[in-house]
Amino acid sequence: MRLDATDLRFVTQEEFKVLSAVEVGSRNHEVVPTPLIAELSSIRSGIVTKCLSSLSKRKLVARVQGAKYDGYRLTYGGLDYLALKTFSRRKPATVAGVGTKIGVGKESDIHLVQDEAGKERVLKMHRLGRISFRAIKEKRDYLGNRKSASWMYLSRLAAQKEYEFMKILYNNGFPVPVPIDQARHCIVMSLIDAYPLRQVDDVPSPSTLYATLMALILRLAHCGLIHGDYNEFNILIHRKTGEPTLIDFPQMVSTRHPNAEFFFDRDVEGIKRFFKRRFRFEPSSWPRWKDVLAGPDLSETGGADTEQKAESSQMALYPRLDEQVEASGWNSKGSQQLEEYFASIADIPEEEWDGDDDDDDDGDDNDEDDNEERVDGEAVWGSGQTAEEVEDARDASSDRSHE
Ligand code: ADP
Ligand code: MG
Repeated sequence: MRLDATDLRFVTQEEFKVLSAVEVGSRNHEVVPTPLIAELSSIRSGIVTKCLSSLSKRKLVARVQGAKYDGYRLTYGGLDYLALKTFSRRKPATVAGVGTKIGVGKESDIHLVQDEAGKERVLKMHRLGRISFRAIKEKRDYLGNRKSASWMYLSRLAAQKEYEFMKILYNNGFPVPVPIDQARHCIVMSLIDAYPLRQVDDVPSPSTLYATLMALILRLAHCGLIHGDYNEFNILIHRKTGEPTLIDFPQMVSTRHPNAEFFFDRDVEGIKRFFKRRFRFEPSSWPRWKDVLAGPDLSETGGADTEQKAESSQMALYPRLDEQVEASGWNSKGSQQLEEYFASIADIPEEEWDGDDDDDDDGDDNDEDDNEERVDGEAVWGSGQTAEEVEDARDASSDRSHE
């Protein structure tokens, strides 16, 4: 889809209310019946019909002819709009204007945006399920059967998880972007003046960069975390300093995860393989799972001569970040659902994702007229995750000034 900043202005107050009502209705209806939309928006049904028609023309909702009844569903375009609207209504606005698309990840779109003060930021819009309707046919059985609403739900979980982890990593001095805001399936973060390692052909000292990256993996693990997708696509190399910044956290797991060793080794192997291929660098050592189990070597940090002292300096230097994330309220049920998804696409190499973007990323496979479709059943968003929608819907009906 195209993200057009002018959309923010050209959706009328009534249309916005109707759009919010479709979102709220999506919580327990895959297809939201038109009378329910009218009821939720408290707008006369004649006007609702007009609004739905104009929203549908702009692909913010899609008309669906169901087996039992006709209605509408929210599209990714509509969800994008609602997230942007939320950012633009913060005081001060975290997103006041949308600029160019700077990246297409396997499962996201990345845009340059500006905040209220005109500062450039990065907007990441999660698009889980996108690869399911690409060329990867053998995955279709598992992935192809999901409804678009449940993709949106998973994308929202991914954004919430990524934002939680980014905040905790940032607060503990890890080199990650500054987390700024999150709403629905989107996060806003600082712009890193950098290239992905994937695009870097030459570095002054591969062995130094290798050592830095491996030290980072180990430090993360000593803090109880494994990145889970630690590779040349998710490591940004600063244009001027050559320093690495880590991005892309929806796959992070605790070192207490039952498969932690597997994830840790996979991250380490990925870096080794890349350095060998790209820089012809063959390391003589690399972090092993037993190093993680052994805990950090505190002798170099000075003075840990008693067990008690060692323990307290370990806590200071290597806080249990996995516990902090858990305490933050990030829910384990959501984690599990995301994990299932990531496991199902784990063997699709990022290289295979061509980054060629369509205009109709609705997370479904419908290439025909995107705004008219048929469904037979009903599905739900999943439980919870609704406070924001309810709040926004309330905002929408109380705010009469916006056009
Ligand atoms: P995905 O989950 O789809 O892989 P990523 O978070 O890895 O998405 O981002 C995809 C690409 O977008 C990155 O490889 C990078 O080029 C760019 N990017 C993401 N975040 C930033 C940022 N904060 N600053 C600069 N570029 C970024
Ligand atoms: Mg990535």
